[in-house]
Amino acid sequence: MIKILKVETNHKYELEIRHLYNAFFQGEKNIVIKSDICDNKIYTELKDENVHLKDCREYNEKNDLKRAVYDILKSHFEEGLEWGILTGIRPTKIVVDLKLKGKTDEYIISMLEKNYYMSEEKSKLLIEVVNNEEKKVRLNKIDDSINVYINIPFCPSRCYYCSFMSMDYTKYDIDLYVEDLIKEINEITQKKHILSVYIGGGTPSILNEIQLEKLLLTIRKKFLGKYEFTVEAGRVDTLNRKKLEVMKKYNVNRISINPQTMNDSTLEAIGRKHTSKDVIDIYNIAREVGFENINMDIILGLKNEGVEEVKYTLSEISKLNPESITMHVLSVKTNSDLNRNIEEEFLQYKEEIRKMILEVHDLSSALNMNPYYLYRQKNILGGFENIGFAKDGKECVYNIHMIEENTEIIPIGIGATGRKFEKDKIKRIKNSKNMVKYIREV
Ligand code: SF4
Repeated sequence: MIKILKVETNHKYELEIRHLYNAFFQGEKNIVIKSDICDNKIYTELKDENVHLKDCREYNEKNDLKRAVYDILKSHFEEGLEWGILTGIRPTKIVVDLKLKGKTDEYIISMLEKNYYMSEEKSKLLIEVVNNEEKKVRLNKIDDSINVYINIPFCPSRCYYCSFMSMDYTKYDIDLYVEDLIKEINEITQKKHILSVYIGGGTPSILNEIQLEKLLLTIRKKFLGKYEFTVEAGRVDTLNRKKLEVMKKYNVNRISINPQTMNDSTLEAIGRKHTSKDVIDIYNIAREVGFENINMDIILGLKNEGVEEVKYTLSEISKLNPESITMHVLSVKTNSDLNRNIEEEFLQYKEEIRKMILEVHDLSSALNMNPYYLYRQKNILGGFENIGFAKDGKECVYNIHMIEENTEIIPIGIGATGRKFEKDKIKRIKNSKNMVKYIREV
């Protein structure tokens, strides 16, 4: 039994084929896809125990190849994908690009449907997201301003679905790490206007009050002026009133309290050491402390969760009435993350995720939120998308720029990523993920 897809090609686009296949199906299946380019033609074949499909067409560009693979997969699975052949992480960039060239929404929608096989619904969603981004920030290339990202990669325990850099905080000297962050921040010489500072992780609220105060004080002294200042206060098991008061003192104006789910049995199963009541309690304290822009992250597709569980989470979140919600669809790292390996079950599950997404859209409109940023991940369950919804004016500036890649980002801390402009290109900058090396570099 072949447990993974076998791809045979005579070109460099094997990965694209794999990503496309994963959007159709993730699980055990005995299947071979062959894709060859020869004399301006693409030859595509799909074989499993029962079928042998073939396709031959003109080849001019990579998308011809993706369309050929898509068509053959669509015949095999007897259904298409809402995102068509798009496998990239930042689909909104296509729309931004066309809008900056003066194209109308109608033109963009028809182009997305024709070139990328996207559904009308997702094409309209992309347009809506970009229109909402545009209300908040400039989408053209911005040279005179900058964002800052600071990474605190430590967590109190590892969530089973985690795909981020997460280190056991008990194994490191956090005082020393904060000192190094402070040194790194103080070394920065750029004088551009700051659009946003984002402290993410890991779990930034793992820092104790003293460490947090030292870091926030340094940031405020270094980066002057008015800007969006976010702290990911993600795990409520690391939060308390004192830490929230320290954040407030230094004018952190956006925090993220991330329940992921409000079902206690799931919270336990995914390795988060808190209950839904803890989320509610800390959320209420954050309001008392004076936070007026709170985001909550949720994940769809968690183990043992169906539409009913998601509905429960949403009803609990709706009572709290945050300013924004970020919806993630679980990204599958290995087949073992997925307890639905059978094709029929997987397709049913995909349908269930679709229903969960609709529930999130319904809740966000009931809370007067609009979709304002969107990205996809490789291996996201069912090929769906992650969406940030926010009330008017409460959209996260950093998130938009991070996805649209139209500003530079200074990365600070171990494993932090940023980017800078080099002529017309954007260059990713990655800080070392190795603590010893990072400390030495600082
Ligand atoms: S809190 Fe976030 S970074 Fe930390 S283990 Fe969980 S998912 Fe990973």
